[in-house]
Amino acid sequence: MSISPREEAITFRPSNLFYLASLHRPVVDRAEGIHVWTRDGRRFIDGSSGPVAVNLGYGNPAVLEAMRRQMEKTTFAYRLHFENEPAEQLATTLAERLPAGLDRIFFVSGGSEAVESCIKLARQWAVATGQGGRWKVIARMPSYHGGTYGSLAVTGDGFLTDSFAGQIRMMPTVPAPTAYRDRDNLSMEERGLRYADMLEERIVAEGPESVLAFIMEPIGGAATGALVAPDSYYPRIREICDRHGILLIHDEVMSGIGRTGKLLGGDHWHCRPDIVSLSKGIGSGYVPLGALAAPRRIVEPVLKMGGFQHGHTYAGNPLACAAGLAIIGEMDRLGLIDNAAAMGEVLMDGLRGLAARFPFIADVRGKGLLTAIEYADRETFAPLPADWKIGQRVLDAAYERGLIVYSRRVKGGVQGDYTMVAPPLIVTRADI
Ligand code: PLP
Repeated sequence: MSISPREEAITFRPSNLFYLASLHRPVVDRAEGIHVWTRDGRRFIDGSSGPVAVNLGYGNPAVLEAMRRQMEKTTFAYRLHFENEPAEQLATTLAERLPAGLDRIFFVSGGSEAVESCIKLARQWAVATGQGGRWKVIARMPSYHGGTYGSLAVTGDGFLTDSFAGQIRMMPTVPAPTAYRDRDNLSMEERGLRYADMLEERIVAEGPESVLAFIMEPIGGAATGALVAPDSYYPRIREICDRHGILLIHDEVMSGIGRTGKLLGGDHWHCRPDIVSLSKGIGSGYVPLGALAAPRRIVEPVLKMGGFQHGHTYAGNPLACAAGLAIIGEMDRLGLIDNAAAMGEVLMDGLRGLAARFPFIADVRGKGLLTAIEYADRETFAPLPADWKIGQRVLDAAYERGLIVYSRRVKGGVQGDYTMVAPPLIVTRADI
């Protein structure tokens, strides 16, 4: 069975759904732990946690029980009419764990909504503080920040934006720090500084007073295949943003909530972002849930101005938040952040072993359980011939054998071809 969506003729499924393309996947029946069963009786290991989302694994009894208890009370309470306890408790739980100062939480229902919210909060803060000229959000190329108009405007991937024929107003970009590709005499740390300094050059070229924010994935996800910058990059980025009064937004939708062996990806470098977006891991596939976290100094002027002009119907609903609370509780009880760090090492060793056998694997990287292999010429990083469809073939071959991985081709400054391996954080050495 092939699952290559773009290769198939357009035939509609007998149901009324449509997706990215016409897909012919087996129908899911149930899921538990790291496994998913289909109705035709096949069992898969979910080696990518869906789209790197199901951090806790499927069917956790404590989460299901917390959801059941909440559903029996109420499944919904509109936030403009009622406060709700699960939302308040989840906000407190997150604020206690996030880097100091990021203690104001705003809930949404997914990652793109979280990114949109970060950008809108930043813009409203600028207006509220007399900096109305600041509106540009510089992003990295390649990068992935979501599928809505605003989040796509800061997404560096031509495959995702070209279909709209220039009608999405793309924001300025700087190259993502793909220092591992560079063939020069600089050390990795010098390269890290060079990539960070490209941000400053861009800010100056745009006119610093017009720049509102810089958005980045501290550890890359779908667009860069678990890209980790050299250590020197992170503090320099903070320094540059401070120098120009620009907000630093960390998109932790994929890298956050324990995925990389710390609560946030940026925690590996003790980063101090101004605003953080979260999603995937806090809902872990149980509920649609996302959040932004920001400090009082950003939120207060916005509230004084009349309030944050933003919100979605399902934002902060008690059912999603009750599940989120139980998910964080289970992550603590099971020690999953530490497990992600430890199992990440085991996984990396295995992937490095693969790379030693296959010359078309040019790089292996990641942190914790956010890992990837990149396909390219090992010496030059020239892309492999497009008709090899290497990522898709690896994905298909793994799928045939009952293993789900996540392959992406990206067109964003550099052409990238990756397979990400990112199992649920409950994964064991034996599973790997
Ligand atoms: N930001 C990042 C870093 C992501 O990886 C994703 C999804 O993959 C998103 C935003 C968008 O999240 P969602 O698909 O929940 O809208």
